[in-house]
Amino acid sequence: MILTDRQAAARRRELVDLLRDKGIEDPAVLEAVGAVPRHRFIPGTGLHGQAYHDLALPIGEGQTISQPFTVARMTELLGLRRGERVLEVGTGSGYQAAILATMGARVFSVERHEPLLRRTKPVLEKLGLSVRTRAGDGTFGWPGYAPFDAIVVTAGGPTIPDELRSQLREPAEGKPDARMLIPVGPAKEHVLHRITRTGPDAFTDETFNDVTFVPLVRD
Ligand code: SAH
Repeated sequence: MILTDRQAAARRRELVDLLRDKGIEDPAVLEAVGAVPRHRFIPGTGLHGQAYHDLALPIGEGQTISQPFTVARMTELLGLRRGERVLEVGTGSGYQAAILATMGARVFSVERHEPLLRRTKPVLEKLGLSVRTRAGDGTFGWPGYAPFDAIVVTAGGPTIPDELRSQLREPAEGKPDARMLIPVGPAKEHVLHRITRTGPDAFTDETFNDVTFVPLVRD
């Protein structure tokens, strides 16, 4: 199905209402969902009719574009400020990165499947969103651009990689502590954790009700 810009905008407004009903409260997150054309992040046009349903959809390489609720909830829990440096692990379709960039973050995103990245980069560029991307294993973070104010891991794994923890910025005057959202646990039973760096060697760990994610792979 081919969506016109006008139809897509109307569907986005419905999606925003749905996410609000499901408990998303942050106005900046809802505004970004209302602005980012999710259908452009879904390859082909066959699934565009479902682009604004609250569903994960296939994007190739056995991967999916995350469910809008998952993206909105994780972004809300990040508590982003404009200008913050954010590392994303698992670029996938680029939709989560687009939401973060629309909210004024400086986004660095790592994806292990290069073919996905080849498709995603031009989509982000066409929308004028500046997101720096790299193919590779994101469980090692992106040392060249560390430290980060926030890290969002969009695939679930068994443990929290130490490399990611250490790439969170140490506490600084006048800035909120750096935090990471990461799904942790055995396959299909991931629980969302928010790790906050409260000192050079101090971290807090909060958990949130489970949202489902695709596996985070370390070869
Ligand atoms: N943020 C994406 C979600 C895609 S699903 C979006 O908004 O569409 C999760 C992605 O994580 C998949 O594309 C998968 O290939 C990627 N992934 C899994 N393990 C990874 C790893 N170790 N490093 C980088 N990317 C990884």
